[in-house]
Amino acid sequence: MNTGINRLAWRGNTGAAVVVGMAALILAIMAPLSPVRAEEPGALAAREARHIAASFPGRMAGTSMEDITARYIADRWLEMGYTPRLERFLTGYTFRGDSDDASTHDQRSLVSTNVFAERAGTSGQQIVVGAHYDTRIPTSSRDLERNIGGPELEGFDDNASGVGVLLELAHALNELAPRHTIQFIAFGAEEIGLRGAYEVVNRMSEAERANTLWMVNIDSIITGDRLYFHAGPETYAKDPKAGHARDRSLAIAAELGITAATNPGFNERYPRGTGCCSDQAAFDRAGIPVVNVEATNWELGDKDGYQQTEVSEAFPHGYSWHLVHIDNLAHLEANLPPGRVDERTRDVVRILLALIKELAEIES
Ligand SMILES: [Zn+2]
Repeated sequence: MNTGINRLAWRGNTGAAVVVGMAALILAIMAPLSPVRAEEPGALAAREARHIAASFPGRMAGTSMEDITARYIADRWLEMGYTPRLERFLTGYTFRGDSDDASTHDQRSLVSTNVFAERAGTSGQQIVVGAHYDTRIPTSSRDLERNIGGPELEGFDDNASGVGVLLELAHALNELAPRHTIQFIAFGAEEIGLRGAYEVVNRMSEAERANTLWMVNIDSIITGDRLYFHAGPETYAKDPKAGHARDRSLAIAAELGITAATNPGFNERYPRGTGCCSDQAAFDRAGIPVVNVEATNWELGDKDGYQQTEVSEAFPHGYSWHLVHIDNLAHLEANLPPGRVDERTRDVVRILLALIKELAEIES
């Protein structure tokens, strides 16, 4: 149970409280008198994504930086009028010194955190909207040699960008009354095997799973050439209706004049119209229909969605995922097409806002 870590911290510290009070007064005096102009869609998301990447690098599961980021997200939601909740869970991963030599393998336990904010509906059913906030842990000597993950990884694309969108969606929906509850979740420990998402699904009762109508996941929307929306392979194979949120996303994008696509299915391991490999998979496997949003390029490399853009000097592997010197603010802003960050956050926010209003049945 969270709410107001900062508020609690001020108790019994009246000197500091007075200073804060004065600062608030000065800020109030300095505030412009003209009415506050509504921001462009995506502006809050882009600002938060940049801030989270720059201020909280190395948000690795189980580290204090992951925990600080969880509290930061909870504080943003508190400011928006939500009552955020932190849920801790025990998890872990195997560090492989040498991948072929089991004697060098080391089981590491850790505690990670999921952060929740809820806009309550009246139907007893819910929509989950999620994005992971942790960054990659090096899990082998090879990762360390290749500078993959670790305390310097900003994870601007993966996945400060998704968290920025998650925060803006919560902000945009905070005064609307949905028929179905909207559950916003910032997942911890995605990078060691979708652990935060599995924890959420495992803690749900049978009835809660049945009453979860959709899960919308946002992961890595900046680096990739194109914006994609996918259904979940398991739920979609069982029932084509599980592709509805994907199809509506694509239709909304078309109405708004935004180019978006779904996996064309050129690699037989990844069926057409379905995605993989982020937190939505935990929900898909539990029978909950999903739509996941990402930017990549399913027509490059092995056509498995892992190559985000053409190989170039700036992107020697064709992707930014987990690479300390690539997935950071300075490198991406300097090497992606000008305006990419603001354009993508705007596009994703506009599409998802319309989609979630439909799925949660909000009158607007
Ligand atoms: Zn990710």
